[in-house]
Amino acid sequence: MTMHKLMLLPGDGIGPEIMAEVEKIVDWVSKAYSVSFDVSQGLIGGCSYDAFGVPLSDETLKTAQAVDAIIMGAVGGPKWDGVDYDKRPEAGLLRLRKELDAFANLRPAICFDALADASSLKRELVSGLDILFVRELSSGVYFGEPRGIETLADGSRVGINTQRYTEAEIERIAHVGFEMARKRGGRVASAEKSNVMEAGLLWRQIVTEIHERHYSDVELNHILADNCAMQLVKNPKQFDVILTDNLFGDLLSDEAAMLTGSLGMLPSASLGNGALPGLYEPVHGSAPDIAGEGLANPIAAVLSFAMALRYSLNMGDVATAIEQAVDRVLADNIRTGDIYTEGTVRVTTSQMGDALLKKLDDM
Ligand code: NAD
Repeated sequence: MTMHKLMLLPGDGIGPEIMAEVEKIVDWVSKAYSVSFDVSQGLIGGCSYDAFGVPLSDETLKTAQAVDAIIMGAVGGPKWDGVDYDKRPEAGLLRLRKELDAFANLRPAICFDALADASSLKRELVSGLDILFVRELSSGVYFGEPRGIETLADGSRVGINTQRYTEAEIERIAHVGFEMARKRGGRVASAEKSNVMEAGLLWRQIVTEIHERHYSDVELNHILADNCAMQLVKNPKQFDVILTDNLFGDLLSDEAAMLTGSLGMLPSASLGNGALPGLYEPVHGSAPDIAGEGLANPIAAVLSFAMALRYSLNMGDVATAIEQAVDRVLADNIRTGDIYTEGTVRVTTSQMGDALLKKLDDM
């Protein structure tokens, strides 16, 4: 029997509640598909700070680096607002991503048909929407040097950040974008600001070269990031894969998230070069306003596990089954509070997990 090593890092706030539902699905998969999961658990974020004085301990990191896939809940909350910047819950997550060399962030923006009316756009614009963002995660303006706030000779201050991309950094994310497109609709839109930024110009040149050399079967279009933002609200279904840098990916994928209805529905993956495990986590945060009340939507976390099955565990068919179960539960009008509308049935976090299990059993 195939054995997969999984590490679950529930984190803070609603993290433990949504992870409990992921565990139910992990159990279901192991029984239904005769695979076995060796599941370990660890602390990350504020709960780790409370227990060990750091948001990610060396020991947890070591265990995480040795598994096949890591599923995380969320970190953070007002309890740790006063903690030093380098010990804040978010610092644990940043360290984990860095130590995994996770440079490729995959964020699907999928609009389930049953939720099309919850979108900020008209149903016909979003129904059936299926975009995959491939965002560079480990470089660009969030990391570039020099950075800081300096005082000028006249006593006024200047804030400095540097947009910086090497050829190698652009090449490796471009490969991920084209490979993903091959598994989907075969189209890549590469978004940058080559009209006003040299880093954007280099991005465009390298993406073009990689495309010509290796991926002539994939359709490539270059798009300026500001136009991409407009097209996402004008005609989002024109896109298949959107390949972009760290900053534009942050903004554009959040914009697309609103097209799909709710934060509670959106999974993500952060992948490195394959030598270390992928990190899978919902896009949403720890939602301290609803933590512990059974109100959280576990679907983003469950879909994150589905992404782990597809991208790290080579079980794409099982991932598809889980995604179909989500689709069907929503079609049955079963909803957690965040996606509830009049006429649908409001359920708790654990009832949503049970509804998914039942659908999987019936499929
Ligand atoms: P948030 O995503 O936690 O919450 C935003 C809103 O969406 C809240 O009203 C919340 O109740 C709701 N929401 C989020 N997830 C939900 C779910 N699964 N089901 C139902 N409703 C859901 O963002 P925030 O309030 O800005 O941040 C709260 C904390 O989370 C902060 O400490 C922040 O730093 C942290 N955060 C962590 C991550 C992460 O771990 N990757 C990401 C974003 C924010």
